[in-house]
Amino acid sequence: MIGADTIQFGSTTVPRPRKRLGTRCIPGGVMTSGRWKQDPTSWRTVPRPIGWKKITEAIKARDGQRCVWIENGQRCPTTTGLEVDHIGDPHDDSHENLRTLCGPHHGSKTGRDARAVQLARRAGPPQRPHPGLL
Ligand SMILES: [Zn+2]
Repeated sequence: MIGADTIQFGSTTVPRPRKRLGTRCIPGGVMTSGRWKQDPTSWRTVPRPIGWKKITEAIKARDGQRCVWIENGQRCPTTTGLEVDHIGDPHDDSHENLRTLCGPHHGSKTGRDARAVQLARRAGPPQRPHPGLL
């Protein structure tokens, strides 16, 4: 039987490894303050372009005046305090590189880590032994 806490390898069931997100810095793996001293992000030092406000309004309108963050398959319901986030290159202000996030999701280092994990998953499935080889 495959449960939430186990992984099936051929005929062997092993405990699923715990997620290690965040545990390297915060005991217990809980990130509560939203502020991380180390690993400062560089995007805040990039000056806003002229017309940034117009750009943000266009992005928010495109995204329905709502945070576009997806968590556990559900889109964040927040519609207030919205900010526009650079998905990738902080110098790239094209609409494809911008999205609407609420303040907590925009400022969340946890969110950034989660996004990195999502991108890593998208790059390819994890290497697993072929069941036929066991
Ligand atoms: Zn949100």
